[in-house]
Amino acid sequence: MSDLDTQKIQLIMDLRREGISDLAILNAIERVPREMFVPETFREHAYDNRALPIASGQTISQPFVVAYMTAALELTDRHKVLEIGTGSGYQAAVLAKLCRRVYTVERHLDLLIQAEQRFKQLDLHTIVIRHGDGAAGWVEQAPFDRIMVTAAAPEIPSGLAGQLADGGIMVVPVGPDGGDQRIIRLRRLGDRFETTKMLPVRFVPLVSDPVLPRPVLE
Ligand code: SAH
Repeated sequence: MSDLDTQKIQLIMDLRREGISDLAILNAIERVPREMFVPETFREHAYDNRALPIASGQTISQPFVVAYMTAALELTDRHKVLEIGTGSGYQAAVLAKLCRRVYTVERHLDLLIQAEQRFKQLDLHTIVIRHGDGAAGWVEQAPFDRIMVTAAAPEIPSGLAGQLADGGIMVVPVGPDGGDQRIIRLRRLGDRFETTKMLPVRFVPLVSDPVLPRPVLE
């Protein structure tokens, strides 16, 4: 067994100890090679239970947080899921193992192109990508059964909540950049939203400047 395989088993045991009990989620994490989503220089740390830097000043989330937010979505294989903040593509890949289709939006084109290549290499054909401002969601594909935001919003993004199907769940880190942030879970019940405060976290900010349109590739 390679060092990375040993470290992966260690990570799965750590996640169980930290309270992640859903076997489908642990299994999904075991099946997604995180080393393919981190920069080459961090390869040997791919299974450390911590966030790591990726290009464009962004981060790939800590495996525990990936597992925790995934569990909070209560996914089934029938769900259509929207993710905001593709980043490395790791979270989208984990989601893709557990649901029907993942729509993921990223504002940094370089990150998105790299993520797209990883999805192709891993035969993850149920992930659909989009370059743009995810704060606006994905109107043409709404409603979504589940929404996961992987960048911290200053407050609950109401535009995104409006793209949830009835009975749908959204998880989103809410709080100031670099300050006290919490994962908030919203459940849509008709016109009402039930909110629950969950884990304290530290995410990069959800940036809502206009982004340049995707250039035409020659
Ligand atoms: N889910 C990612 C972690 C991403 S870090 C992973 O598994 O690797 C947060 C990401 O959100 C960054 O890549 C950042 O560029 C992106 N982001 C921030 N604001 C955004 C916005 N308004 N729309 C789309 N993506 C955004």
